[in-house]
Amino acid sequence: MTRLRKVTGPNDPALREAAEILRGGGLVAFPTETVYGLGADGLNPEAVARIYAAKGRPATNPVILHVADAEGAQPLVSRWPEAARILAERYWPGPLTLVLPASPLVPSIVRAGGPSVALRCPAHPVAQALIRAMGRPLAAPSANRSQQLSPTLAEHVASSLGGAVDLILDGGPTQAGLESTILDLSGNRPRILRPGPVPPAELEALLGPVDIWEGAIGAGARQEAPGMAERHYAPRARLELVAPGAGLPPTPDPVAYVGIGALPVLPPGVRGVLLPLDAEAVAARLYALLHELDDAGFARIVMERPPGDEAWLAVRDRLQRASAKEMA
Ligand code: AMP
Ligand code: MG
Repeated sequence: MTRLRKVTGPNDPALREAAEILRGGGLVAFPTETVYGLGADGLNPEAVARIYAAKGRPATNPVILHVADAEGAQPLVSRWPEAARILAERYWPGPLTLVLPASPLVPSIVRAGGPSVALRCPAHPVAQALIRAMGRPLAAPSANRSQQLSPTLAEHVASSLGGAVDLILDGGPTQAGLESTILDLSGNRPRILRPGPVPPAELEALLGPVDIWEGAIGAGARQEAPGMAERHYAPRARLELVAPGAGLPPTPDPVAYVGIGALPVLPPGVRGVLLPLDAEAVAARLYALLHELDDAGFARIVMERPPGDEAWLAVRDRLQRASAKEMA
């Protein structure tokens, strides 16, 4: 049985217990400002192997190491370029992950055998307190089975990973709702590998030109960058994307229709859900909504495509992946 413990603040005794479990090579799920993470001692290869086993995660998909501050990142990299210094100062703690050349301290399994390591400094007070109590970097991908929806509530972790986790720290609903922006600083030019809460325009204002990896946005993504499977972040229900205002013909099946900014007239029996025309608000709500519709038993979710501008990049990416067909 997985234990779930509410954490009320940075001095909660549950954090000491969690740090003990992590030091012993166990798994602890914890809230961050993006989604819940499945944490293990990031410098212990056997502990990290347990993350892969619990998630059913392919060994080709590297994991992000979480540190308490920029100082904690230094022993993990062989180079800390000026761009990293600027970004860490501006965004850490926060939802920006930096990919940098790894130091020999980083186990191969964390890097999926590659030369670089992804580093993030989470802002959530529980995540911060846990990393500090543990005193080592935490490997922590999202706390869900591979390819499924990311968890924004402790209960989502419990139902996706069940007994595979030693302890779940319950810090209530997460804030940003979508995974961190991932920026690769290991090459010649900064490159976004995954769009997220930090928008490209802000990064460009600080760094100059930033590339967006062509596979970074949704369907059609090839597996060039590690872990960027085309189908990902998916609910159990079949998710279809339609043009704004498209509506639905009458159907006997239990269907939910999600509109953005407005809802068309829907046939009787269809559950209509209205989301605001506000990218940040939709990002914060999206996974929780898909979890709710899954739990309510809808086998089909029809959702309007979000607008095409940059503010919606991360939401568009997740929806395209969530609606991609399962691969054979
Ligand atoms: P998550 O499962 O949300 O923790 O996301 C982890 C993702 O970060 C992976 O799927 C990769 O796309 C990316 N990532 C992690 N480590 C690296 C790395 N060393 N190089 C490039 N991308 C990485
Ligand atoms: Mg994930």
